[in-house]
Amino acid sequence: MRHIIIGGGPAGVVAAETLRKADPAAEITLLCGEAGPPYSRMAIPYLLRGDIGEAGTQLRKEVGHYERLRIQLLQGRAHAVDTAARTVDLGGRSLPYDRLLIATGSRPSLEQIPGIDLPGVHSCWTLADARAILAKARPGARIVQMGAGFVGCIIMEGLLSRGVDLTILVRSGYMVRRMMNPTASGMLRRWCEAKGVKILTRTQPRGLSANGGSLQVALADGRTLPADLYLSAVGVDPNLDFLQGSGIELGQGILVDGTLQSSVPGVYAAGDVAEATNCLTGHRQLNAIQPNAVEQGRIAALNMAGRPAHFKGSFVFNVLTTLGLVSSSFGEWEGAPGGESSELLDEARYRYLNLQFEGERLIGANSVGFSDHIGALRGLIEGRVHLGRWKHRLLEDPTQIMPAYLATAQKVV
Ligand SMILES: Cc1cc2nc3c(=O)[nH]c(=O)nc-3n(C[C@H](O)[C@H](O)[C@H](O)COP(=O)(O)OP(=O)(O)OC[C@H]3O[C@@H](n4cnc5c(N)ncnc54)[C@H](O)[C@@H]3O)c2cc1C
Repeated sequence: MRHIIIGGGPAGVVAAETLRKADPAAEITLLCGEAGPPYSRMAIPYLLRGDIGEAGTQLRKEVGHYERLRIQLLQGRAHAVDTAARTVDLGGRSLPYDRLLIATGSRPSLEQIPGIDLPGVHSCWTLADARAILAKARPGARIVQMGAGFVGCIIMEGLLSRGVDLTILVRSGYMVRRMMNPTASGMLRRWCEAKGVKILTRTQPRGLSANGGSLQVALADGRTLPADLYLSAVGVDPNLDFLQGSGIELGQGILVDGTLQSSVPGVYAAGDVAEATNCLTGHRQLNAIQPNAVEQGRIAALNMAGRPAHFKGSFVFNVLTTLGLVSSSFGEWEGAPGGESSELLDEARYRYLNLQFEGERLIGANSVGFSDHIGALRGLIEGRVHLGRWKHRLLEDPTQIMPAYLATAQKVV
């Protein structure tokens, strides 16, 4: 059996390892679109902070790991997939497969503005981006960052630790708008400003221009900011373009069923690129986080090896550390129509908890400054636990999350 995995990120690597375990005789090729050994994007903030070197970002650190497992690492990019002939086109040569896994992740979606292709403009998505940022982020360097989503927030600490002058542009006015309500977002903003980050809300760049060795960022409101580095962190899109015309059904990502198989038999998808079921809503959605990629890589590989396995679905949960402040976002944090909510707010101590209920269940939450309840929150929401009388206790005092979890989620029924 010839297995090809396109994409050497966490989903692809775990899939290759799982395949080897499940099928000792299979031929396994891991097609890696970036130079160097497979690495984890999650490690990039630690690299920026200087906590680890480049070797520390590698997904597998043992020398000879892939050779030992007889996983062939092949450097190159897939240009197209021919699902009728069962081949992957590498631009010049094509590789035949019996089973294919697409684990190509996502890529930054850059602003469509003049100058976005100038030197000194980067995203923070790849190891190559991280190298370019490290080269520019010297003490006193002026960095203008567009966007304050998950990645935009998580890299701030690494940037500030290098003594840079950081300005962040937030188009909507709300940091991490896609995962936090305005109260939580406002707390994050105050926290960052107190740590020395300049945050300009309700503005965005109109264009970038070169100015000697640096850049000028022209804002929509008429102001101009000088920058030694412009960082684009406005979001990501799944890497799907090469699948146009392949016959694989695409939505926002690759549409997959509970076995992570696409609409074409024998072709599977996992990780940031897959649009799989949300276990809370039952609808398919992208869920671009690493634990999801790893689990999907494992399940897809088992099915590819002929060992039936079912993906129970994922749900949105994000735990974010922004300059030392932990915040989290779970499930349907915006609430449901007709639902109830409870809230605890301590602005001075940067502590906030917002719980959303539907019927007897907790369906979503936002928190700032609470790290001890994160496992219990996840357990109650993901487990769709019936809270019974604990719902009223949580409505009165949302900090009772841990006792509620212990009393309800662990109960033997
Ligand atoms: C700075 C940063 C911090 C993050 N922090 C966290 C965190 O704290 N927690 C968390 O859960 N997630 C975090 N993430 C997100 C996490 O990294 C992704 O969810 C995860 O990497 C997804 O894994 P994947 O295997 O699906 O895709 P990727 O890791 O993106 O891997 C996909 C691979 O496919 C390759 N590829 C793409 N197109 C092709 C092609 N045509 N041919 C061949 N190869 C191709 C790419 O080069 C890449 O190697 C972070 C991301 C970044 C950038």
